[in-house]
Amino acid sequence: MLDAEFFRRWMTATAASVDREAERLTALDSPIGDADHGSNLQRGFTGVVTTLEKEAPDTPGAVLTLAGRRLISTVGGASGPLYGTLLRRTGKALGDAAEVTEEQFADALREGVDAVMALGGAAPGDKTMIDALVPAVDALAESFAAAKTAAEEGAVATTPLQARKGRASYLGERSIGHQDPGATSSSLLIGALVEARDE
Ligand code: ADP
Ligand code: MG
Ligand code: MG
Repeated sequence: MLDAEFFRRWMTATAASVDREAERLTALDSPIGDADHGSNLQRGFTGVVTTLEKEAPDTPGAVLTLAGRRLISTVGGASGPLYGTLLRRTGKALGDAAEVTEEQFADALREGVDAVMALGGAAPGDKTMIDALVPAVDALAESFAAAKTAAEEGAVATTPLQARKGRASYLGERSIGHQDPGATSSSLLIGALVEARDE
């Protein structure tokens, strides 16, 4: 079973991973964006950790809805509302249970990913975070480790794609040949599940 403490560790591990990889995320966002993805998410997840420490929500659903709200209010770029919606909708789907099964979490995360697609209008293959998140939720029924691998492969597979959503889409064919920064940060978010489990 996964409790509020697990979800708090997930957010803390994501913040640490984003800190470690911030320069790389920003470097990926420079040829096909505006070179702020690393700093956007660093600010966002630092804020999430601070808010979780201060407010100490005590259910899985409350941890994720609070984290999502904080991302939306802290990150100005496209990724803030999108990641914020992902976590908020996932949290909402978990309701007010004190503990949830991995299967319930996988179902809730799928609702979250669907909400991101509804908000941003992106589908798989559009070279966005969706290209890492959809394979990750598909693999989540198997294990966290399988979801991590699926997200990493999904991120790498964005390289040959032409962007059809977000800032990178303004470049048309020139977006081809670069890995999408948001798909890369999504692989960090999903990878952090494995760390949260091991701790
Ligand atoms: P901004 O483009 O506003 O500077 P970020 O650099 O923080 O925002 O985030 C860029 C990432 O957001 C992209 O790499 C992409 O993965 C994701 N993204 C942008 N627009 C969309 C969208 N409509 N749907 C899904 N993801 C998107
Ligand atoms: Mg950017
Ligand atoms: Mg920006």
